[in-house]
Amino acid sequence: MADDLHLSDEKTPRWEAVLQATRQSAWEYDACTGMIYHSPLWKALLGYAEEDIGNDLEEWIARIHPDDVDRVRTEMRQHLSGEFPFYDSVHRIRRKDGSYLWIQDRGQVMERDADGNPLRILGTRMEASKRQLFQEQLDQLAENVPGMLYQYQLNPDGSSHFPYASIGTYAIFGVSPEQLQANASLVFSRIHPDDLPGIKSIFQPTRQITAWKAEFRVTLPERGMRWLSGYAKPQRLESGAILWHGYIRDITSDKQRALKHQETERLLQHLMNEMPMGLSLVDASGHIYFRNRRFHKYFSFLDGKEPTLTNWWQMAYPDSAYRAQVISDWNYNIAEAARHGTEIQRKDYRMTMRDGTQRIMAIGGLAFGDHFMATFEDRTEQTAHSEQLLKMAYIDGLTGIANRRHFDETLQTEWRRCQRSGKSLSLLMIDIDYFKAYNDRYGHLHGDQCLQTVATALRARLDRAQDLVARFGGEEFICLLPECDLSGANRVAQALSLTVQELMIENHDSPVSRTLTISIGVATQMADDESTPEALLARADVNLYRAKQAGRNRVDDGTDVAADAKT
Ligand code: GH3
Ligand code: MG
Ligand code: MG
Repeated sequence: MADDLHLSDEKTPRWEAVLQATRQSAWEYDACTGMIYHSPLWKALLGYAEEDIGNDLEEWIARIHPDDVDRVRTEMRQHLSGEFPFYDSVHRIRRKDGSYLWIQDRGQVMERDADGNPLRILGTRMEASKRQLFQEQLDQLAENVPGMLYQYQLNPDGSSHFPYASIGTYAIFGVSPEQLQANASLVFSRIHPDDLPGIKSIFQPTRQITAWKAEFRVTLPERGMRWLSGYAKPQRLESGAILWHGYIRDITSDKQRALKHQETERLLQHLMNEMPMGLSLVDASGHIYFRNRRFHKYFSFLDGKEPTLTNWWQMAYPDSAYRAQVISDWNYNIAEAARHGTEIQRKDYRMTMRDGTQRIMAIGGLAFGDHFMATFEDRTEQTAHSEQLLKMAYIDGLTGIANRRHFDETLQTEWRRCQRSGKSLSLLMIDIDYFKAYNDRYGHLHGDQCLQTVATALRARLDRAQDLVARFGGEEFICLLPECDLSGANRVAQALSLTVQELMIENHDSPVSRTLTISIGVATQMADDESTPEALLARADVNLYRAKQAGRNRVDDGTDVAADAKT
């Protein structure tokens, strides 16, 4: 139609009028001469006189904004190569005053030679509209933000298309904006089948229009499954169509992190729930907002209905005096933990359980902010067990009386007590006479029974609460008599000796008596600075030896040594 239009030669006034009315100007490029011809109107628009602008193409290109030149050349080449049917470019041209004008430049090859090389290109240009400028800026913006900006138009008949899709379309859906503009359904073919119905139900022409927000999955040819987050706001057009303005971004890594986090959270919840100890979380107002399974088993006093911390204290510690003590202890421990940023110190408490029984519970935990976590461990059995162990550690297994360790510790404490009171402390070292002979005659088992009988009798004979008889080892016993002087100790020794005789245990092979006898070494000492409990013990031992030497079945307090020395 415009094939016969040659700006270079004949210009018809009619064309000039059309161009002027539409505020456009025309240009023509001749590939043979390399010359470009501009219509006068155009020159005026840029503030130039007719003769200011020549016909050299390079001169024209020099007027293009340096930032745009490269793009303009590319856009022209894309048309010349046949890639695009038109040359269409929005760029800036320098005015005579040095400022730049945004223009829209369009053109098309009108003539090619036998080889297909372009001979003549005809074009028009006009001041770019605000919308075109906006488009240009939008494209630049969209290129530089992650994700995809788009407009999606849904027509009343159900057909749809994308009037705009930014370059990010490629990253989001694995298709180019042009492909998407040509075929909107490409998007839907990428969406995960599980997420597709939800999205399709939103984008229905009949639907009430509200903003859309969704997370969904797509499967991309090269990148596989990705998580996307979409947001769009609808606009009702006059035609009844809905134009969605939207933004979609890839949230795969966030999603993976969130999913991992969720999984960890779930695992922690599970572990907390199944932990073999009671666990509760309490906020600043005393509300117990988490209880694990074991806690429920221990302390769910009101089935289903959960008490406040105050009520709970009352049920767990019915005795008000003990409760007050526990609460003050606990509050102190929490404050300390919060102050030092450490654990709440674990302590044993006597608690009343859901089933009404009393148990020993070790309560500890953590303070974080103004919340705390409390842990509850049933220590009833361990406590009983350790009490048992403790007892065993101080009792002689065979005879059931105090053992050597018990004696050693008691000797130290009683020694200090006597130091304070200024009174004397006495020891009786006791040894069974000819016990080897007893064993030899009656057997070891009877020997054991004999030791038990003697031990029980010795203990029964001591009548003061602070007196202690212990098995010192083998067939030897020791008696600790606090605040007891030498004559008192001698009396007790004589009484014990008699007690054993009165048992009338036959010891047939004893040279001193037909029944079992004992020898006793007595020692008494004021607990002063010059003496020690060890020295006292050694003296009792010496005196026992003396009693043995003197013929056995007797008490020796060492006094005749002094007497002998005097005589
Ligand atoms: P002595 O009058 O000089 O003390 O004579 P003894 O035979 O009692 O003294 P000796 O030290 O020679 O022997 C002590 C014996 O006590 C040896 C051991 O068989 C016996 N004996 C030590 N401990 C036990 C025990 O636990 N059970 C039994 N059945 N016998 C024990
Ligand atoms: Mg002995
Ligand atoms: Mg003996």
